[in-house]
Amino acid sequence: MSDPAQARIDLDAISGNVAVMRELSGGAEVMAMVKAEAYGHGLVPAARAALAGGATWLGVAKLDEGLRLRDAEVRGVPVLVGLGVPGEDYTRAVTEELDLAVGARWLLDELTTAAERAGRPVRVHLKADTGMSRGGATPEDWPSLVEAALAAEATGLVNVVGLMSHFACSDELDHASVPRQLATFTDMVEAAEKAGVRPEVRHLANSAAALTLPDSRFDLVRPGIATYGLSPVPSLGSFGLRPAMTLTASTALVKRVPAGSGVSYGHIYTTDRETTLAVVPAGYGDGIPRHGSNLIEVLAGGKRRTIAGRVCMDQFVIDVGDDALAAGDEVVLFGPGDRGEPTAQDWADALDTISYEIVTRIGVRVPRVYE
Ligand code: PLP
Repeated sequence: MSDPAQARIDLDAISGNVAVMRELSGGAEVMAMVKAEAYGHGLVPAARAALAGGATWLGVAKLDEGLRLRDAEVRGVPVLVGLGVPGEDYTRAVTEELDLAVGARWLLDELTTAAERAGRPVRVHLKADTGMSRGGATPEDWPSLVEAALAAEATGLVNVVGLMSHFACSDELDHASVPRQLATFTDMVEAAEKAGVRPEVRHLANSAAALTLPDSRFDLVRPGIATYGLSPVPSLGSFGLRPAMTLTASTALVKRVPAGSGVSYGHIYTTDRETTLAVVPAGYGDGIPRHGSNLIEVLAGGKRRTIAGRVCMDQFVIDVGDDALAAGDEVVLFGPGDRGEPTAQDWADALDTISYEIVTRIGVRVPRVYE
């Protein structure tokens, strides 16, 4: 049985991309970022493929993602949860041996209570805000967070295993904030260590920094987008990474229409001759950007075709002229590019966004098929 649309996931590509990141990161360990359903690729299969490729850590954003990894028996590997909110079930987090990024006092307090309840210590990574002004403690708040963490550690309920931060602009070569954040992180790590913190790992680098800024690698790099084979800095090429997701669909209907036919909602596309239209069963309900109407391309019948008219919730239309296409024929929406199909980066360029958004937004209605 064929699906209307499917995302084929090349697990060997994910393993291979992690191996590339290990090699290009000069010996640093790799924490594969598998948050947001592994950027749309599927949390558990992608995590397993990343581990097979040499990742020794996994990173997620939300507690539920970490718990789902443990529920799927992904054990024996540290999993860092980056983004806690007050009142979550941290006792379960401790029991399931999840690491937590801690950038605020309330979380340290909730984790200490949870560790007491769970009867075992919690592993934390103190998170520094070195200039992104998102998560983490600012340099002003850092000494008191470090002091509180050391006090909690002295009770035996908390182990500070990591010191970490995150870049705001590492994908923009020569952005002045990058060396500033690196210097600030170095200072904040030094201050924490002077105060008595003995971390297993210090980590800062996302994909772009791991690939372009050797001094940012410390003990561990945290590639997300590179794990899935998409370049974090497209102007520098592919770095030998291979895109892991290919999005395909089978045409639902193919028909001849006369010149002057308005196509799809709003008639923003009109046929300029008698032509053949094909209906492709994937729409914004599947994560195809509606802004891609009359703009993004797909591969059908061996040729690139621009989506004709508005992307609908469940479908869009392509104009294939006089080419022969039949209902059920495969359309490749994006993929690695080997067969002439667009890449997720091509869609991102056309839509003035980033490849991250293209792959991550592919919806739950689209089955992931692992190859
Ligand atoms: N580390 C943290 C804390 C993140 O939030 C992210 C993703 O945004 C990453 C690493 C991975 O970033 P990238 O996908 O650019 O490699």
